[in-house]
Amino acid sequence: MADLTKKYDVLVAGGGNAALCAAIAARRGGASVLVCEMASKFYRGGNTRHTRNMRCAHDAATEILTGPYSEEEFWDDLLRLTGGQTDEELAKFMIRESKDILNWIVEQGVRWQPSLGGTLSLGRTNSFFLGGGRAMLNALYLTAEKLGVKIVYDAEVTDLQIEDGMFLSARLKQPIDGAAQIRASALVAAAGGFEANIEWLKEYWGEAADNFLIRGTPYNRGSILKLLLDKGVQDIGDPTQCHAVAIDARAPKFDGGIITRHDSVVFGIVVNKHAQRFYDEGEDIWPKRYAIWGRLVAAQPDQIAYIIFDSTVVTSFMPTLFPPIAGATIAELAGKLELDPVALEKTVTDFNAAVQPGTFDHTILDDCRTEGIAPPKTHWARRIDTPPYLAYPVRPGITFTYLGTRVNKQSRMVMKDGKPSANMFAAGEIMAGNVLGKGYAAGIGMTIGSVFGRVAGREAAKNARNW
Ligand SMILES: Cc1cc2nc3c(=O)[nH]c(=O)nc-3n(C[C@H](O)[C@H](O)[C@H](O)COP(=O)(O)OP(=O)(O)OC[C@H]3O[C@@H](n4cnc5c(N)ncnc54)[C@H](O)[C@@H]3O)c2cc1C
Repeated sequence: MADLTKKYDVLVAGGGNAALCAAIAARRGGASVLVCEMASKFYRGGNTRHTRNMRCAHDAATEILTGPYSEEEFWDDLLRLTGGQTDEELAKFMIRESKDILNWIVEQGVRWQPSLGGTLSLGRTNSFFLGGGRAMLNALYLTAEKLGVKIVYDAEVTDLQIEDGMFLSARLKQPIDGAAQIRASALVAAAGGFEANIEWLKEYWGEAADNFLIRGTPYNRGSILKLLLDKGVQDIGDPTQCHAVAIDARAPKFDGGIITRHDSVVFGIVVNKHAQRFYDEGEDIWPKRYAIWGRLVAAQPDQIAYIIFDSTVVTSFMPTLFPPIAGATIAELAGKLELDPVALEKTVTDFNAAVQPGTFDHTILDDCRTEGIAPPKTHWARRIDTPPYLAYPVRPGITFTYLGTRVNKQSRMVMKDGKPSANMFAAGEIMAGNVLGKGYAAGIGMTIGSVFGRVAGREAAKNARNW
């Protein structure tokens, strides 16, 4: 039972990976720690529940990783995928610290499993959680509780009292055991981005945001991020930048998770509601391109698109929750998708006519390409000519947003005047924009949460105890 009337050394707002890493590190640092998780116990853990793996640098192959992934290679990848929009000092710090996280997280009870094969191609770079994100979280919660971290659920933080960059107290939406005002000597904000706040997304995307699906928790509404930015913390990151993939249009509005994501784009073509192709489906290997398709679909009329393929490739990719929609002819398929049959037939016929001979291999940039159509399909182009014809309807699936609070290497928030906050720290999605100006590589979300969560907790404990 948590006594909410007492003053804690460290208050952690949030209940996902970043929050738990911070809570454990702070407690191990000798601090009294209270975690306020907005969700109920069953739904605890935010987007972390949906994760599978984490990207960490390592010098050699291990039991679960097939080869080395040096700090330099990790940095090169990050530099390329962000187009240089990253804080170099902070990013290199994160990469260096990530090496130690592989073992540290195991010390906190988390277990790894051999990496998944198939289309992901992550066996060398990413470590997979045994049992997935939920099992990983359960281990962290168990460890935190054993260490004496106090955790309260259904505990939404709705206001923060901050004076001159110093956190004083937090207000809960509703009292827990009679207390609604929480006092602590330091704050760790680990409450996610604002991806579940459609109204906030609309400020940048307009009405289109109504058609976005949110892949993860409905609780990451950015309420703490907004409070912090309103109360003097410096922002970082472009509010329109986010991780967004193409997910099944039949997925629920929130929390559909990984099983609604479509990885079949490279095996077919993608058309919009006018049955027109709009982007090179074979531009690069899938792990480097899957995260652009959410934005591409977001830019199409009514934010809807259709992946069209034929029966020859059905077993080439990971099946998803929803079965494909089938038609014996392209025209029949078009009818089921409510597309103009004549337009879809013409698009498929033109595409088929443009396909050049080649040797198909989806694991490399093969020589199967089109000629004479725009946009081209530069790899893995094969004729769509074997019925039944199949389609998945897709919409933008928003994973998480990048606008956040600026932090330094202590994970300490930086105020608008450039001075470090006296006692406020941030970790995870809420500060991801420091490292991710744009782009994404699988597994970095959890690296950001674990590395900066651990640092934030350790520094918050030191701060609170005046070490
Ligand atoms: C489907 C899916 C799959 C993913 N797969 C991967 C993967 O394999 N690898 C990877 O690295 N990343 C993955 N990600 C991204 C990853 O989930 C995030 O980067 C990571 O979990 C962020 O951790 P966090 O602790 O910052 O946020 P979260 O885990 O989202 O936690 C935020 C917490 O804050 C709480 N909260 C929000 N507002 C308040 C408030 N006002 N008061 C109190 N609490 C509040 C929420 O309830 C939640 O518990 C995936 C995301 C999704 C949606």
